[in-house]
Amino acid sequence: MMAIYPFKMEPFTDFSNKDNIKRYHEGLKVVESYLGSEYPLVIDGERIKTNQTIVSKNPSDHGEDIGIVHQASLKEAKIAMESALKAFETWSKTDAKMRADVLFKAASIVRKRKFEFSALMTKEAGKPYNEADADTAEAIDFMEYYARQMLEISDNKDKQVLSRRNLERNEYKMIPLGVGAVITPWNFPLAILTGMTTSAVVSGNTILLKPASTTQVIAHKLLEALEEAGLPKGVINLVPGSGSTVGEFMINHPKTRFISFTGSKEVGVHIYEQAAKVQKGQTWLKRVVTEMGGKDAIVVDEGYDVKQAAEILKASAFGFSGQKCSAASRAIILESMYDDVLEALKAEVQTIKLGNPEDETINMGPVNDENAFNKIKEYIGIGHDEGRLLVGGNADDAKGWFIEPTVFYDVDPKARIMQEEIFGPVLSITKVKTFDQALAVANDSEYGLTGAVLSNNREHLEKAKAVFHVGNLYLNRKCTGAIVGYQPFGGFDMSGTDSKAGGPEYLQLFMQGKTITEQF
Ligand code: NAP
Ligand code: MG
Repeated sequence: MMAIYPFKMEPFTDFSNKDNIKRYHEGLKVVESYLGSEYPLVIDGERIKTNQTIVSKNPSDHGEDIGIVHQASLKEAKIAMESALKAFETWSKTDAKMRADVLFKAASIVRKRKFEFSALMTKEAGKPYNEADADTAEAIDFMEYYARQMLEISDNKDKQVLSRRNLERNEYKMIPLGVGAVITPWNFPLAILTGMTTSAVVSGNTILLKPASTTQVIAHKLLEALEEAGLPKGVINLVPGSGSTVGEFMINHPKTRFISFTGSKEVGVHIYEQAAKVQKGQTWLKRVVTEMGGKDAIVVDEGYDVKQAAEILKASAFGFSGQKCSAASRAIILESMYDDVLEALKAEVQTIKLGNPEDETINMGPVNDENAFNKIKEYIGIGHDEGRLLVGGNADDAKGWFIEPTVFYDVDPKARIMQEEIFGPVLSITKVKTFDQALAVANDSEYGLTGAVLSNNREHLEKAKAVFHVGNLYLNRKCTGAIVGYQPFGGFDMSGTDSKAGGPEYLQLFMQGKTITEQF
């Protein structure tokens, strides 16, 4: 077998290099060559057209159609389930090395077409160059990382149990679960989609994949890459459709063995409740992995560099228009720093150039769609009642779904804009007297995804490590941008089921251990 090098993160593209800007423009041209194409469902490797389609739109320019995507109804969802059940018979018994190989090859294919994949996210999701590039890099990382993890599990599990000489021989191996329902969000339309999909299939499962409604073209492009890499038909059945029909079918079906979901708390909780019900004919308890929202806080301690704090707050709150589960949406600032940080932050935020991110000088694009636009605008209205506006606040949907980076200050920790996930470019700031109070406010949330502490005080940093209850805690840096294999990612409490994507135990969520003892 070929040598497998240790995992190493995919480097980010340096956009200060003009050649890379040129390559990005070329990527955009490739995407433009297939704008408006039709994408039928993919079931058992067959392309199936239905009588219902949706048009995927460019959120920066609603006049531009990205693709026409066929939608599954219950009829096709049922066929997809049959296909996945049939493919499971062979795929679950396929050598782990072959399964891993599909991921290694697909990673190479995506890497070769990196600028095209990123450019497609600029068009379909409104991601600026650096954000889209990081998304594609993360997708590559997930495939490289999970492929290695699968090899490690298949090679080494046995070594973790003992046998008794002349008495018994013990084997311990991880086997796949069955057919999974994979339901993905739009905000990391390639990375999270790739991570959730390939983790499930490299561990030997087959799936029904329902991507988020607004980013279905990129899902097709990933599947094409996996097919080109040798993925057998029926392993991934791509059934875009609405959450309320296809989504419900997938989570409630008695033959669904597990559900892997990333999205909002509301939908995640609903899935968790539904999945708990044992359906007629169901002969197992469904396993549920749900990764949900966040209300992530950054604490700015006394004595920290003011400009640096402002830069970190800006990057954490407004990268990809604040549409990251890890985005900072609360800032908790010590009294003695408060006025200075506000002033510096206002100046920083005013440097953000909002617009269509196809232009490389734009560093913040639109929000996802009309629903997101309206919801965020509503929260800005609430913000005016609950705090004072520092900067931003305007919205314009004439051409695309644009909302200014917006900051409210003097907000009470119990206010709605300090408690509810807005999922847009809105940061709420509160003032505290002591560091202990800052941590108490930070922990005063039903969510527990990410958080950061900016401090020069070693004791305070140590205290935060012990007390700040989040799945991903960052010290003296931004609270977004976890890297596969380096910072296993996933939150506590209402942020999810405590799993860690890109972490050493992740694949085992989609497997079960079988112990075999033979006596001599
Ligand atoms: P969402 O509205 O909950 O949707 C997520 C997925 O669930 C979509 O594919 C959606 O389909 C589907 N869905 C909706 N209703 C359903 C139902 N009744 N049954 C089955 N599936 C259903 O979330 P989103 O707006 O796409 O994503 C943003 C959210 O994701 C934020 O809350 C963010 O914090 C969270 N997020 C969390 C993480 C993490 O790792 N913890 C990472 C990224 C994002 P439709 O698109 O067709 O509605
Ligand atoms: Mg949605």
